[in-house]
Amino acid sequence: MSRTWLGHLRWALLALCLGCPRNTVPPPTSRPTLATVDIIAVGHGDAILVTSAAGKRLLIDGGEAEAAPVVLARLRSRFACPLDLILLSHPHADHLGGLARVMEDCGARLYMDGGYRHDSRLYARLLEVVEELGIPLLRAEAGRQIDLGSGVVLTLLGPPRPFLEEGADGVNASSVVTRLQVGRSSVLFAGDATAPEENWLLGQGVGLRSTVLKVGHHGSRSSSTAGFLAAVAPRLAVISNWPNAPKHPHPETLERLRAVKAQVLETAREGTITIELDGEGVTWSSVNHPRKVPLP
Ligand SMILES: [Zn+2]
Repeated sequence: MSRTWLGHLRWALLALCLGCPRNTVPPPTSRPTLATVDIIAVGHGDAILVTSAAGKRLLIDGGEAEAAPVVLARLRSRFACPLDLILLSHPHADHLGGLARVMEDCGARLYMDGGYRHDSRLYARLLEVVEELGIPLLRAEAGRQIDLGSGVVLTLLGPPRPFLEEGADGVNASSVVTRLQVGRSSVLFAGDATAPEENWLLGQGVGLRSTVLKVGHHGSRSSSTAGFLAAVAPRLAVISNWPNAPKHPHPETLERLRAVKAQVLETAREGTITIELDGEGVTWSSVNHPRKVPLP
């Protein structure tokens, strides 16, 4: 890593930590929410907003281009503009399509992606917008931690280095997989990681066990291997999908999730799903089930 890189990294981490209050762990009798995760219903694609009690706002992916108004509406309802960080899991259209407009309309202090070379006009345009708006760009590297204040920390578990190639390319298998730790609870965001990346993660010796799993690749059979799910052992699994084509999740994936006794939610059925973490317990609610449900 060059000195320039280190300088950017120090600046970025400092920017993310500025203003983080200390000693905000609530008393045990009344535990306020420390982090809220909105898995936004954007059809077939991902757009995930993480907000912390310390006021930090992080967006992981932005859905297809047509989803930008939906994403922006959720950001504004959370007073999340400008975002502290936009993190792109991988450069496929159903994850990056809405980000250019989000950057233009909402603003962002920092942009991060894994650096996988992908020759699409959409990705090239996104990087142009990053440059035009003067948003600092950082490469995602496994092991990097992003402090969101109040003890809320996002750890980057991927992408693999070198990138994994799979079939025609390795875009999915080079997803930036992340894990949000909030006290005793956690959420694993698997991007569109497929079996090769899951196996790579299992070989890294990192902690994968998580209370909640944002299921990889929209519930495709090419992800969520039995070994990976056994390591994560999620109590809640959320699938970002759409009731029409493509037909995700695959039945095999649902069967494997049932085998680890995970409760399964789909944005296609629930609408946007909100997960709240207070450091001890976790609740979920959704557009179609607005009453908070605590995880057992
Ligand atoms: Zn996808």
